[in-house]
Amino acid sequence: MNKKANKVTIVGKDLICPVCDHDEFWTRETLMNTSGATFLGFDWANKAATNYVCNVCGYVYWFLNKQ
Ligand SMILES: [Zn+2]
Repeated sequence: MNKKANKVTIVGKDLICPVCDHDEFWTRETLMNTSGATFLGFDWANKAATNYVCNVCGYVYWFLNKQ
């Protein structure tokens, strides 16, 4: 797994962790069609979400791709 932390820019703004004010995150892609999501009845299954995880405290941002 790639856990190299990088600065992240969203719509032209630097992403800052709201918990610890750190500005480096590692990235992972998550498909929303997990058994857990299906179990909870989400009808937006099969969408990909991008997670940015704070490299210091582990706070997770979720961004759903509009498609
Ligand atoms: Zn943090």
